[in-house]
Amino acid sequence: MELLHQLRDEYRDLAGARPPKTREPQSHRDEASGLDSGDAARAVLAQHDFDELHQIGQAVVRAAQNRFGLCIDCGSPIDHARLAATPDAARCVACRVQYERHASGAHR
Ligand SMILES: [Zn+2]
Repeated sequence: MELLHQLRDEYRDLAGARPPKTREPQSHRDEASGLDSGDAARAVLAQHDFDELHQIGQAVVRAAQNRFGLCIDCGSPIDHARLAATPDAARCVACRVQYERHASGAHR
């Protein structure tokens, strides 16, 4: 996940690389304008955000791994050849046949 990596790098900067002690009041006034006494608090918040983000990312990955390739009707893995042909296939072959038979059998 590119986004996660980017955010982690950013947050690592915020959280670790700028200890409050190194603040120089006079130099780099322009650069330092965004880095006031709230910096430490922001770093803590950033770390918290990242932890949460990381957990969400993990959950998304887990959900994707769990759901992808599983039949929505019977829950069994969908045939790989079938997935390759139709990546968004939601049902296994057996359930698909049943589903289509049911659908087409609706009109008499
Ligand atoms: Zn099925």
